Amino acid sequence: MLEKNLEKYFKFSQFRAGQKEIIESILAGSDVVALMPTGGGKSLCYQLPAILSERITIVISPLIALMKDQVDSLLARGIPATFINSSLTPAELEQRLHDLRAGKTKILYVAPERFASAEFRQIFADLDISLFAVDEAHCVSQWGHDFRPDYLEIGRYIKTLKKRPTVAAFTATATPEVAQDIMVRLDLQAPKVFIRGFDRPNIKFFSQCDLKPTQRLEEVLRIVKSLKGAGSGIVYAISRKDTEAIAKYLKKEGITARAYHAGMNAVAREKIQNDFMENRFKVIVATVAFGMGVDKADIRFVIHCGMPGSLEGYYQEAGRAGRDGEPAFCVLLHGKRDVTAHKFFIRIDKQNMLAQGKSLQEVNQVLDIKYARLDGILDYATAKRCRRRIILEYFNDPDLHKQEANCKGCDVCLNWKNTELKKTAHSPRIARNKDELSDTIMETVNLYQQDYLPEQIAKMRSLGVSTIFNHLVLWYLAGGELVIEKFVSAEEEQQILQALPQAGSAHFLSAIKAQLPENISYEQIRLIIAKRQKMKADRH
Ligand code: ADP
Ligand code: MG
Repeated sequence: MLEKNLEKYFKFSQFRAGQKEIIESILAGSDVVALMPTGGGKSLCYQLPAILSERITIVISPLIALMKDQVDSLLARGIPATFINSSLTPAELEQRLHDLRAGKTKILYVAPERFASAEFRQIFADLDISLFAVDEAHCVSQWGHDFRPDYLEIGRYIKTLKKRPTVAAFTATATPEVAQDIMVRLDLQAPKVFIRGFDRPNIKFFSQCDLKPTQRLEEVLRIVKSLKGAGSGIVYAISRKDTEAIAKYLKKEGITARAYHAGMNAVAREKIQNDFMENRFKVIVATVAFGMGVDKADIRFVIHCGMPGSLEGYYQEAGRAGRDGEPAFCVLLHGKRDVTAHKFFIRIDKQNMLAQGKSLQEVNQVLDIKYARLDGILDYATAKRCRRRIILEYFNDPDLHKQEANCKGCDVCLNWKNTELKKTAHSPRIARNKDELSDTIMETVNLYQQDYLPEQIAKMRSLGVSTIFNHLVLWYLAGGELVIEKFVSAEEEQQILQALPQAGSAHFLSAIKAQLPENISYEQIRLIIAKRQKMKADRH
């Protein structure tokens, strides 16, 4: 029974929509194309068959950071996985291959460009591969918004294999043309196609067009302020310089913000990423370079300060919000000059392609697509009709007919002239009983009850450790059992109690933390506050 294995290996009680059918097809040896929204749970669709197979599964993933996250998350679940990339020493590579041949490791993550090397292909020749899973498969298509020529190597490689494995392709953003292209370029054999609706019902979509630069900046601030208490989010800016300027402006206005871009050194970037993961500041202001490798499930808002060049790109970036299924907000702030800028980039592309010796016919074909994509996002940004519907139409969503005329989740349907997000922003309310707790909290509780440590749960769920403690505290306040003494010693509890203000609320955790020794964490303070809250409530 697949459900049993889901429980056994992933500790999840049920499949999400589409997962089971995809897994069954893969196990039956059929090629698969699966289109599922971000956060839909694509990884599990190849990870579970991989675990159940006696043989090896190769996963193609575009970014080293992404690979590492996935391998870490599998290892945290006790599932043997590894990755091979150019950073390994020959000895490390040999060890990993040895483990694969010995059947100790069953899931191997590889970057696509590896298959261009004859030496590398030779290494793989003697491995017994049952499944080839291609993640972010839209990268194989020139019509996709994120074409990576390296992905073409995969199809070529698969064709050379004597014993052909099952091939499964996964993506969240594919128009019908891109889906078709994936099948051709990966040489899929009579693939079963699974399309799950692209809608993200927990996300509200807003757009404002024709803003002047200063207006736009003020809007960013106003929106972030209106999301007070709603958790952390991303502001996407066009250039590195903009990220710095916006972060500086937000900070001046009392918002904790950090700029993040590829021009910063690796150490600084990693620190910012970790702090973001742990909700130590509210807003990360980044270029679009940020996000692909970032696996934070509780991002509450994504604001675009500038319009991307396609709706695919926009939906992928915006879709990083709310992967935990809780309410989230996406706002597109379109500027007067955005279109001119994109047209300029397209003209540069044209010159580059011509300089590379491409034929005019070929160049024009690519340009037509780019202009069409620009029209797509422009329609989304400026139209006076339901934005959710525009997105779903664009992706040819099979469930479109099920949508209500009023989606109740975009600025048009909500009839919002001015994006006042405050009214709908929610900060987690204290539930009076356990049934009121959200699924995401209950998933954490479920793992906690199976004796996983908060640090392990955080890894498994792509959440910060502080978020996991938050879930546990909400569970505890709703009457759940939490052994606080496991996390705070009696002595630490005494210290914390002395630092707490006697009356009133203890909102300013940082003020309390400042009075305490370094080794006492925010999480421990949260726990003791909760304990006191609970004792007071029980007395009444
Ligand atoms: P995608 O690649 O489709 O964007 P992921 O594979 O990263 O999504 O999954 C998103 C989150 O959903 C992960 O935290 C994952 O552990 C969780 N998840 C996947 N399947 C299930 C399930 N059946 N039940 C609960 N959580 C799940
Ligand atoms: Mg994924």
